[in-house]
Amino acid sequence: MGERIGFIGLGIMGRPMAGHVLDAGFTVTVWNRTRSKTTPLVERGAAAAASPREVAAASDITITMVADTPDVLDVILGPQGVAHGVRPGSVVVDMSTISPAATREVARRLAERGAEMLDAPVSGGEKGAIDGTLSIMVGGKPEVFERVLPVFQKMGRQIVHLGESGAGQVTKACNQLVLSLTLLGVAEALTLARKAGVDPAKVRAALLGGFAQSRVLELHGQRMLDRNFAPGFRTRLYHKDMGIVTETGRSVGMPLLGGSLAAQLYQVAMNQGLGEMDYSVLARVVAGLGGTES
Ligand code: NAP
Repeated sequence: MGERIGFIGLGIMGRPMAGHVLDAGFTVTVWNRTRSKTTPLVERGAAAAASPREVAAASDITITMVADTPDVLDVILGPQGVAHGVRPGSVVVDMSTISPAATREVARRLAERGAEMLDAPVSGGEKGAIDGTLSIMVGGKPEVFERVLPVFQKMGRQIVHLGESGAGQVTKACNQLVLSLTLLGVAEALTLARKAGVDPAKVRAALLGGFAQSRVLELHGQRMLDRNFAPGFRTRLYHKDMGIVTETGRSVGMPLLGGSLAAQLYQVAMNQGLGEMDYSVLARVVAGLGGTES
């Protein structure tokens, strides 16, 4: 196939996403900080590079999927970063969830080198990455979006171009805001039911048939009833995302009363040592406030 693809960051999400691109027949060059994680993809035909810079030099489109804003700055703008390997006309696509303001700054720095950038964070979790059914929220120039679309289509199902640079990250922040408050509502409702002497499993089933129905009630509600908090989506990363939500609100003067509350509760979860558990573990924090067990 025409475009050569680079992939940086082969964690829970990045590894299956890179695998889909490889399976589709693209030439793929990979790099991961912990080098051993490249082996399964190299065995399937990917080339391994020695640095993000080398990945970019070997690719027309370089995708990054790392953890947090400082990590993206590191792999793109750091001394061995993508920015030092890109050629004019190539594209960098950051699919990590990071700050919209930082995204715009990285795009500006890449533009100085003649390279384009898209922000393209995802929703759908590990399952969506493995199944190739992610929702992908994209910011950047429309013609660059059209160019990368065939690659996105190997990783996702709902792929939406939302506007200029940063629009994808703003959309992801909106997604996390809705998710956190829904999760809080479900956690409080199930704890309230238990404390009031009504079976929370029956409450969940009853609510699923009415206006309070949601995927969060369905999937995370069940996790809460089972006390199954194996990740999934780590609380540590969700705490990072709530920081992005509150920062984004502040940057435009939008008070986020609910979002701030949820962000504080995730801080409590972190302080209680729950960072490596699934983010639905918020139910345990809420139950603790009620003086009961989740
Ligand atoms: P993960 O399993 O913890 O993987 C993180 C990846 O980033 C690893 O490859 C890690 O390398 C790399 N990395 C971290 N810091 C780095 C640095 N400073 N320099 C170079 N590489 C670095 O995380 P994940 O679940 O795949 O999440 C990736 C992104 O997707 C995050 O922004 C997350 O918020 C977002 N996301 C996750 C989910 C989910 O359900 N998991 C859903 C939607 C969006 P090592 O292997 O060396 O540690």
